[in-house]
Amino acid sequence: MIGALPPNATIGLVGGGQLGRMSALAAARLGYRCHILTREEDSPAAQVSHAVTISDYADPASLRAFAAAVDVISFEFENVSAEGLDLLASLKPVRPAPSVLRISQDRIAEKSFLNNTGVATAPWRVVETLAELEAAVAELGLPSVLKTTRLGYDGKGQAMLRSPGNLAPAFERLSPKPLILEGFVDFAREISVVIARGADGSVSAFDTVENQHRDHILDITLAPARITAEVDQAAQRIARDVVAALDLVGLLAVEMFVDRDGRVLANEIAPRPHNSGHWTIDACPMSQFEAHIRAIAGLPLPPAVRHSDAVMKNLVGPHEAALWPAIVASPGLIPHHYGKAEAHPGRKIGHVTRLFPRGALPGAFGIKAALGVLG
Ligand code: AMP
Repeated sequence: MIGALPPNATIGLVGGGQLGRMSALAAARLGYRCHILTREEDSPAAQVSHAVTISDYADPASLRAFAAAVDVISFEFENVSAEGLDLLASLKPVRPAPSVLRISQDRIAEKSFLNNTGVATAPWRVVETLAELEAAVAELGLPSVLKTTRLGYDGKGQAMLRSPGNLAPAFERLSPKPLILEGFVDFAREISVVIARGADGSVSAFDTVENQHRDHILDITLAPARITAEVDQAAQRIARDVVAALDLVGLLAVEMFVDRDGRVLANEIAPRPHNSGHWTIDACPMSQFEAHIRAIAGLPLPPAVRHSDAVMKNLVGPHEAALWPAIVASPGLIPHHYGKAEAHPGRKIGHVTRLFPRGALPGAFGIKAALGVLG
């Protein structure tokens, strides 16, 4: 373990999206420079960073030049090839370690790891052929969810199976194989925990939050989640167990389901800042982005204090992008724009946060009213 990075050190971030942008802004407050590696011209992260390398994530010459220019490497985008990760790790400290990314990149590795760590998930089966899918459906029942093992996000790469006629078309459509079949969880709530862990093993966990999706994309996060103390403790325990078992240095989000019996089941882990942690920028003295930078830079990790309750709403696609002038004219809405030139359907272009005194998070109607033009 090297010591804490001094101010003016350079942090290399792989990926140029909004998570990199908000990480770079947090890094700047701590006196660090960020160097972004991205395929994209004019990316959200590069717009606010010290330097950028524009290249494919697999090009060895670019990876070498990037590594040479930075003091430590982290990610906002995890799908870098195994060879690329190994090359980077041979040149500079990579946090979290490539072994962690290999687990989160692959649903089979991820679910095996979770179950081996004693963390419950929906029941699941690996499916390589249509015959195996039929056998898995016979075991897990319908409805169930068929997913690709790699590169799935925001509901891409998955299909809900509701009737026997859905099996063959879904199996043909989804690739690459193998796939996994998951039993359907009739969840009462979706929740998540974002947790940072330093190289010395210290952890700092943000409060458990509640997530509401629309068209498979996160729409609203409520902080704190409206859950019992028992569910909260179970969720926080899972987050702590997962980062300890991974020996993670950096930040990790755990997405979970709470089923109708109050059981907490892990769905996904992401070893990076997470959309369900954006509220921390406005409702916590140290945001998830600052916690990420502190963890990878070797700075102390203070407790993840929340001074306010919060509602975070994503701005997705052209319709919500068009509301921007009204959003910035609304006194209670804290605006965050990602600097993207185009607002394609389904694309996240920003988010807003609305704060409430602790304990004063309103119910559904109050939240709708509080979001004003976005309600
Ligand atoms: P994922 O890509 O695994 O994060 O799934 C995206 C969303 O699909 C989740 O946030 C849930 O809303 C839904 N989903 C995924 N897996 C299941 C499941 N096994 N049962 C019920 N809903 C699911």
